[in-house]
Amino acid sequence: MSDAIPETYVRERATDGRKDLRYPPLPDPLAVPVYDNHCHLEIADGPSTGSGAQGLTLAEQLDRAQAVGILGVVQASGDIESSRWAVAAAEADPRVLAAVAIHPNDAPTYAAAGRLDEAIAVVDELAARPRTRAIGETGLDYFRTEEPGRAAQHASFEAHIALAKKHGIAMQIHDRDAHDDVLSTLQRVGAPERTVFHCFSGDAAMARICAEAGYYLSFAGNVTFKNAQNLRDALAVTPRERILVETDAPFLTPVPLRGRPNAPYLIPLTLRFMAAELGLDADELGAQIAANTLEVYGSFA
Ligand SMILES: [Zn+2]
Ligand SMILES: [Zn+2]
Repeated sequence: MSDAIPETYVRERATDGRKDLRYPPLPDPLAVPVYDNHCHLEIADGPSTGSGAQGLTLAEQLDRAQAVGILGVVQASGDIESSRWAVAAAEADPRVLAAVAIHPNDAPTYAAAGRLDEAIAVVDELAARPRTRAIGETGLDYFRTEEPGRAAQHASFEAHIALAKKHGIAMQIHDRDAHDDVLSTLQRVGAPERTVFHCFSGDAAMARICAEAGYYLSFAGNVTFKNAQNLRDALAVTPRERILVETDAPFLTPVPLRGRPNAPYLIPLTLRFMAAELGLDADELGAQIAANTLEVYGSFA
């Protein structure tokens, strides 16, 4: 079924800074299955598998994930093309749900071309599809976007918040170096009922603020990085019913595989690391995260 996804949607290989392009071996399967709630499988990464496509095909990705106990993924988007791809993938394979959006770093580009309203209208249309369960990723990124692009970013973020509410679906926030403005925007306009900070990047104090507001915190492979004590501190204070896990694949490959391609089937490394940090059994944390994921995005079936 998945080979119905046109390969022409495959974007560039994410080879920047990669030391070894071979996909790592499969980790030991999880006894209690979970979901990867944020990844970018339209970005081919790693060497050809002989299938004609670069990297792994969608079906290969999902089969590997399933083999280690990852039952499904939420495919995130950043522009019109990837949003369409996410919906097509979700409609072709029951292990995928779609998140659609114009990324905060893409919003200024659309705005400069006079196409931001048109792009957001496409997101609105795609958000109505039954397997679209989130608006994402949207938010603010002050790391990669400087003035004058930030005005477009703010306008786009607020439009996306409105779309999540309109369609009654979750929202995945991308927040890079913009914690205060993301939080104050949510407070000012009102957050969607189910708001997820994808690749949570704050500290314990921010995690407490998010938990208080009822937001979900999604931890990615960078929680395993040596220099990321702030993320481990944040994890420690996050209520269990607000914790999610993601790969953000093909980015943020967890320790000890940094430099290799990332993929949803590597979730067990991050999950086991998080469980150890929390002094929990991986099965117990996995069961909680699986329940949280379904609460945010609904059922995959
Ligand atoms: Zn992001
Ligand atoms: Zn992402």
